[in-house]
Amino acid sequence: MSQAPTLQSFIAGQWIGSEAAQGLTSALNGEVVYHTHAEQIDFEESLAFARRQGNQSLMAMDFQSRASCLRNLGKYLLEHKESLYEISHHSGATRADSWIDIEGGAGTLFAYASMGRRELPSGNVLHEGDAMQLGPKGKFYGSHILVPRNGVAVHINAFNFPIWGMLEKFAPNFLAGMPCIVKPGSATSYVTEAAVRLMQNSGLLPEGSLQLVIGRTGDLLDRLNGQDVVTFTGSASTAAKLRVTPNLINNSVPFNGEADSLNCAILAPDVTPDDAEFDLFVKEVAREMTVKAGQKCTAIRRTLVPENRVDAVAEKLSARLAKTTVGDPSVEGVRMGALASHTQQADVRDTVEQLLQTSERICGGNADFAPTGAGTENGAFFEPTLLLSRDPDAEGGAHDIEAFGPVSTVMGYRDVDHAVALAARGKGSLVSSLITNDPEVAGKVVPALAAWHGRVHILNEESSKESTGHGSPLPMLKHGGPGRAGGGEELGGIRAVKHYLQRTAVQGSPTMLTAVTREYVRGGAVNETEVHPFRRYFDDLKPGDSLLTHRRTVTEADIVNFGCLSGDHFYMHFDEIAAKDSQFGKRIAHGYFVLSAAAGLFVYPGEGPVLANYGLDTLRFVNPVGIGDTIRARLTCKRMIDQGKVSEKGEAQGVVAWDVEVTNQNDELVASYDILTLVLKRPQD
Ligand code: NAP
Repeated sequence: MSQAPTLQSFIAGQWIGSEAAQGLTSALNGEVVYHTHAEQIDFEESLAFARRQGNQSLMAMDFQSRASCLRNLGKYLLEHKESLYEISHHSGATRADSWIDIEGGAGTLFAYASMGRRELPSGNVLHEGDAMQLGPKGKFYGSHILVPRNGVAVHINAFNFPIWGMLEKFAPNFLAGMPCIVKPGSATSYVTEAAVRLMQNSGLLPEGSLQLVIGRTGDLLDRLNGQDVVTFTGSASTAAKLRVTPNLINNSVPFNGEADSLNCAILAPDVTPDDAEFDLFVKEVAREMTVKAGQKCTAIRRTLVPENRVDAVAEKLSARLAKTTVGDPSVEGVRMGALASHTQQADVRDTVEQLLQTSERICGGNADFAPTGAGTENGAFFEPTLLLSRDPDAEGGAHDIEAFGPVSTVMGYRDVDHAVALAARGKGSLVSSLITNDPEVAGKVVPALAAWHGRVHILNEESSKESTGHGSPLPMLKHGGPGRAGGGEELGGIRAVKHYLQRTAVQGSPTMLTAVTREYVRGGAVNETEVHPFRRYFDDLKPGDSLLTHRRTVTEADIVNFGCLSGDHFYMHFDEIAAKDSQFGKRIAHGYFVLSAAAGLFVYPGEGPVLANYGLDTLRFVNPVGIGDTIRARLTCKRMIDQGKVSEKGEAQGVVAWDVEVTNQNDELVASYDILTLVLKRPQD
């Protein structure tokens, strides 16, 4: 019996598993380095714990505090990253590959932390406004709210990114306020286990918010209900099987799928071998083939080039691939590591054989291929392999078969329409790259590609220095693709958080909607007090606190003075004749004067808790203000966000958005906007 340790699942707050089951081998030398555990997991208990304890501890927090927690978790993981790099070594990953997994994973936590702080409210109700007036008298409104689903998110992940793959799903579901159960791909589950141990040891994880399954999911999917969510990343065939689990269908459990995808890169016809873009193209394809030994869901599997560039691309690309040293990443100079396991190695070998039925080999497959490093002859290495399909329109081949390794197939196209048609033959992909220096080509090709791709990356010399590359999903942009790519959307800013929230339409009076959304809805009851709202600390304010100002009659002198002060002498304000011919039929005041005059009406001039006005949203000049019109403003506390911010001077503060309505003597709205302020919290002694 091997001495290799047994991994443990983290279920219902306990680490369980001591009896060895499946041996997990090092990709570098084939030795068993860990075992999965043999003990059966009680999924009834696991789900009950998540629903009870996980839900309770997450609901004791809110969107803002969970965002802060994500940031702290990210920091903790970075502080302890070296232990993760060390363990990742067995997976055959180079330091650069593991950087994507480890630091990319922590980066995703940071990204969701800052998106959450910026875009989500305090509390656990997200108002998807604006509220719509439904009744003629303004007493019946409708709007949407999103609240955390009352269930558990089950994440089933592929083996290729054991940490990032977990964290890119955990970040949005945690921010939303749902507990999760993570099941990593077994082959590299030792890396995920190490990351979960770190997260647990950090003391930052609310109890029950994250459970880990090593090994199989047993009857877990059969026990889910309509409040739960399943996300899956892996092969299209497993996705197809799991998404039709009868219990998931019967209970309408959302299933977000990310499956294998036959991504492509297109070299546009405008690029010649002498252009910088030609080299960029070759570099990008080679990089996508070799990073993570090509085990990336976004890797370029199909290399589409104009027919007259096939030879030039094949030559340059194979020369570049030949220079890639493959072997044990701890050996100096090694650029590409191993596939994650021998099973993967056998799988890639098989799929290359299938691809060779419709293509020829340009490079790779050498009988004398020998990876660098001691013991690597038993490792799961695979030589970078470039294929050429002379009949790109043929059925099957690279449009249908995924070799999940360092393999790509070059295909020639006749014109851009043909290129777009070939790209679509992947039946839906996560990403495609278009390498062009011609904006007209980009303008024509990208919208056509978009129908079949989750992301389109346009590369030329101008963007190349800053480009994050073809293969890198970014937290703020959509990651997911149509059709074969699974039809899901794992990332994409706050939209990914919404997969774990229930959207509900709410109808009622503006006062009721204000109470539910915690966001003042116009027409709702306001609270006017003796104390000016700008003199109230953050803690003393609430949505609906309001001030109706005194009035001011706009004079010609106002317009002239404002014109001179600002330098804005637009005819509508100064040319009597032209203004008469305009749609307003008279000279009108500058909109920005109305804005400034309104500030003059509602601002409290003395020192107070309002620290800064840092912006203005949703500004509309609704009706003109002419000479002789009399305006006034209503300022109402609309939305309050407590991000836990403290100034450099140590003063705690919160964000307050104020609704401003400027009206004229006929009570008609002339200007409408939100102003954004920072407001001090009541000092604590
Ligand atoms: P896989 O064999 O489909 O496995 C994916 C996950 O599903 C693993 O955790 C696996 O567990 C689990 N699984 C398999 N059968 C299951 C079942 N009956 N019930 C519950 N769970 C089950 O894929 P893989 O070999 O891990 O990953 C490689 C594939 O994933 C490639 O095709 C790649 O293109 C794709 N991929 C796609 C994306 C994307 O974002 N679109 C990202 C990465 C990878 P075990 O490991 O224990 O079998």
